[in-house]
This record gives sequence, structure tokens and C-alpha cells, in this order.
Amino acid sequence: MYCPSCGAEQAENSKFCRNCGVRFVQAEGVQPGTAYTSAVEYAGFWRRFGAAIIDGIIINVASFIIGLIIGLIITSAGGVSDATINVVSYLIGFLIYWLYYALMESSSKQATPGKMALGIIVTDNDGNRISLGRATGRLFAKYISTIILFIGFIMIAFTPKKQGLHDMMASTLVVLK
Ligand SMILES: [Zn+2]
Repeated sequence: MYCPSCGAEQAENSKFCRNCGVRFVQAEGVQPGTAYTSAVEYAGFWRRFGAAIIDGIIINVASFIIGLIIGLIITSAGGVSDATINVVSYLIGFLIYWLYYALMESSSKQATPGKMALGIIVTDNDGNRISLGRATGRLFAKYISTIILFIGFIMIAFTPKKQGLHDMMASTLVVLK
């Protein structure tokens, strides 16, 4: 199918135009590629920053509670070294972080609770839901956005589709719902 606004070729199931960013109308009786509405609104830096703060709080509280329970179980069993406890707590922390982001963003909600609160969703370049694998790749790419002094996140404020480095690497967009 072709974008009815700019004529660029699209994947059959696209929800947005990759070229001009209009949203295709997907309604009964509407032939795919014949109608569009106004442009997709990409979520900006501060909205995404707000969502990240909410998610950070939820993850920290969840990690604290789960860590406390597992810590109590391990210490009551006895005979476990501090090094083991450190490794286990690191792994549990990572597991919570991974499952929280990757499961929620690849779910039918396409958003973490923080993103839901701010009315934004994660999509692929065609506006569709992302897979668990892509959500996981995006999460690992966030480490790269972080180690380059957060430049990967600051890029959200300056790129045309408001993509961070991790969005570009994973071919994802964050848009207003
Ligand atoms: Zn177009």
C-alpha cells in the first residue's frame, strides 16, 4: 500500500507513514492506504522523563520488597556468603527491571505504568506493537544511551521523530496514544 498523503510505499499493516508521519485510518469500510488523519505526535523529552521517574519509583519499591523477602529467606537458611547475596540481589534487580520494561512495552498496552500515566506508547516504525525480543533489545540499547553520558536520551529532544539512540537502534518510536 502507498501513503495517501505523500505517496511513500508502506508495509501492509502500517499504522503510520514512515515518511510523512500521518496516521492511517483503520476503520470498517475504509480501504487500507486510502485515508489518513493528522500527523502522529511523538512524545517529547519531558513527558518521557516524567514517565521514567514514575517507573523508577515503582521498580525501586518492587525491588526493595522482593529483595527483602528473598534476603530473609536466604539469611534464615544460613551459610550463604555475602558475595553470593550480592550476586543474587544484582540478578534479581536486573530481572525485575527487564521483565517490567520488556513485558509491559511488548504487551497489548504497549506501555509501562509510567508511560500509561502520561498517555504514551511504544511502537515500531510502522506504528505497531513491538515483540518481546525487540523490547529486550531496546532495553539493552538503553545501556549504550546511558554510558555515553546520557547523550542517547538527550537525543530525544533533538531528533526529528524524537527518538533516543536506543529507539534508533531498536527501530522504535514513542508516541502520544
Ligand atoms: Zn506519507
